[in-house]
Amino acid sequence: MRILVAEDDATLADGLMHSLRHSGHAVDWVKTGAEADGALASSEFDLLILDLGLPKMGGLEVLRRLRARQSQLPVLILTAMDGIEDRVRGLDLGADDYLAKPFVLAELEARVRALARRGRSDSPVLCHGALSYDTEGKVASIRGEVIGLSARELALLKILLQRAGRMVSKEHLVDHVCEWGEEVSANAIEVYIHRLRKKLERGGVKIVTIRGLGYCLERPRPN
Ligand code: CA
Repeated sequence: MRILVAEDDATLADGLMHSLRHSGHAVDWVKTGAEADGALASSEFDLLILDLGLPKMGGLEVLRRLRARQSQLPVLILTAMDGIEDRVRGLDLGADDYLAKPFVLAELEARVRALARRGRSDSPVLCHGALSYDTEGKVASIRGEVIGLSARELALLKILLQRAGRMVSKEHLVDHVCEWGEEVSANAIEVYIHRLRKKLERGGVKIVTIRGLGYCLERPRPN
């Protein structure tokens, strides 16, 4: 997933980002409400982690504006321990869940997993011919045999699997796998796809290149 972290406490944000990246997510960080609002209006994310006590536009206002734009983006708010009123207002404004500070990172991770699940109604295991990918355990296997994929390859595979049989543009892959300021170009995506394709080949799983446009995970042939 691509996650936006809006948190003005640099130490806390650092810990959050480290932990989320370790779990294979692409994470962007903003320190003010105004920046969060701008980022949300211009980029696509899969989840927002929003501190309510932000400078230059509070978190509640960021959330109100987000929902006013009809966005369904899952939002996890971070509140002060004694911020019960803010928490209630946040949930009323359409936040999906909250965590009171201080919290342990394992708890945050669990909330993030739950919100990711809520975002899609299907099973956490995506199957495609001989290939299966457990999106929670982050394990891909061919006929039950685990294949070694990097975090980035897994992220690409997930997007392709979710849109199997349909074209996925390179830009979409760049947006959902990479973070701001990261020097990951459409060319780098080609390299990742090339590696992924090689690893999937023996399972008869084909990633087709649609010239100048993107990629498509070919529908599995019926046996
Ligand atoms: Ca704060």
